[in-house]
Amino acid sequence: MDEYIERLKDGSLKLYALEKELPPEEAVRVRRAFVEGETGTALPKVGSFTIDIDRVVKRNIENMIGAVQVPLGVAGPIRVKGEYADGSYYLPLATTEGALVASVNRGCSLVTRAGGADVRVMRDGMTRAPVFAARDVPHARDVAAWVESHVAEIREVAESTTKHGEFREAVTYVAGTSVFVRLEFDTKDAMGMNMVTIAGQKVGELIERETGARLVATSGNMCTDKKPAAINLVRGRGKTVVAGVRLTDAMVADLLKTDAETLVEVNYRKNLVGSARAASFGFNAHAANVVAATFIACGQDPAHVVEGSTAITTVDRVDGGVYVSVTLPSLPVGTVGGGTGIDTQHECLAMLGVAGGGDPPGTHAKAFAEIVAAGVLAGELSLLGALAAQHLARAHREHGRG
Ligand code: NAP
Repeated sequence: MDEYIERLKDGSLKLYALEKELPPEEAVRVRRAFVEGETGTALPKVGSFTIDIDRVVKRNIENMIGAVQVPLGVAGPIRVKGEYADGSYYLPLATTEGALVASVNRGCSLVTRAGGADVRVMRDGMTRAPVFAARDVPHARDVAAWVESHVAEIREVAESTTKHGEFREAVTYVAGTSVFVRLEFDTKDAMGMNMVTIAGQKVGELIERETGARLVATSGNMCTDKKPAAINLVRGRGKTVVAGVRLTDAMVADLLKTDAETLVEVNYRKNLVGSARAASFGFNAHAANVVAATFIACGQDPAHVVEGSTAITTVDRVDGGVYVSVTLPSLPVGTVGGGTGIDTQHECLAMLGVAGGGDPPGTHAKAFAEIVAAGVLAGELSLLGALAAQHLARAHREHGRG
C-alpha cells in the first residue's frame, strides 16, 4: 500500500492507472487511502459497500474510491394496467427527501383503490443528432436532401453497429450552414445512448463521405440529451408514456379530502397556467421527484431527469368524478446496460420483474416506463390533493369567518 501511495504522491503513478497494476478491489482501497491522506478526511463509510467492484470499474466509474448510499424506500403496491406491465408493484424510491415516499404511497393507494392506472407507451425512440458544416446554404439544402433520399443506406450503416437496435428515422434541420440529422432508433431494452452514439458516428461518417459536408460532432445538441429542450417534448425521446386514472367524487372526498372542482382548479391554475406563465417545460407538480427516485434506485442515468421529468398533468372533470393523467414525452429508460447491472440497482429492477433483457427484447424497458409513469401519476395525485385540501380548508375557514 505505502509503495503505491508514495508513487501517487511523487506523480510516477497516476490515480487512474491503479487498476493497471492492482486487482480492482485493491486499487480502490489504495486510491481511497491516498485521497484520505491528501484531504485529511477519513472515509470509512464511503469504503463500506456491497456492490461488485470488478463490474463497476470496468463499466460504470473511473477513479473509484467507494460508494455513497442513498436510502431506499417503497411505495405501493400500485396497480398498473399497462400493455407491458400489468399487475401490482412496489415502487423502489431512492431519496433523501423526507415525506416523499409517504406522499407517493398515498397516491399509490388511491390509484389502486380506483382500479389501477391505465398506461400506454405512445412512442419509443432514442435519438442522436450529428451536426455537419455545409459550404453554404444551397449545400446545406443538398445535404438534407441527400439524407432524405438515402434512408435505406443510412439504416444499413446504422444497424451494422448493433444487434438489438433498429433504425427508425432521420429528420434533418438546417440553421445557416449547420445541418443536423436527428437519428432515431428503437433501442429495445437499452436506454440506448451509447448504442445510438456508436451508430450515429458511423452514419455521420457516411453522410460526410457522400455529401462533402464536414462532420463537426456526433452530437449537435438537437438530440437533445440532458438539456431542457422543446424538441423532446414535441417529438418525444426515449419512451413517450401516458398514465391516467378515473377517480369518483367519493374517492376524491375520502382519500384526498377535497372535491373534484377544487382539484381541477388547482391543476389548471398551478400546473397549466402557472407553468405557462413561467414558461416552464414542466406542466406538473413534482414529476421530477418520482422520476429521480426511481432512476437512482433502478440504475438509470440520473442526468436524464432533465428530460424525463417534463411531464404534463391534466385533471378532467368527468361524470361523477375526475380523470387525472400524466404525459411524459421524454422518458429515457432501460433495463440492460448503463447502471442497470449494478447489484443493488439490479435488485430494484428485479422487484418490478423487469431486470435484464425482456422476451421479446424491448418489453422490459417498456414495462419499466409504464411503472414509472404510474408512479408519477401517484405522486401528482397526492401532491395535488394535498394542495387542494389546503385550499379547501382555507376556503372553509374564510367562509366560516364571513
Ligand atoms: P450500454 O451499456 O452501452 O449497452 C447496451 C447494449 O446491451 C446494447 O447496445 C446491446 O448491444 C446490448 N443488449 C443486450 N440485450 C439487449 C436488449 N434486450 N435490448 C437492447 N440492448 C441489449 O447501454 P446504452 O443503453 O446504449 O447506454 C447507456 C449508457 O450510456 C449509460 O451508462 C449512460 O449513462 C450512458 N450515456 C452515454 C451517452 C453517450 O453519448 N455515449 C450519453 C448519455 C448517457 P448491441 O447494440 O450489440 O445489440
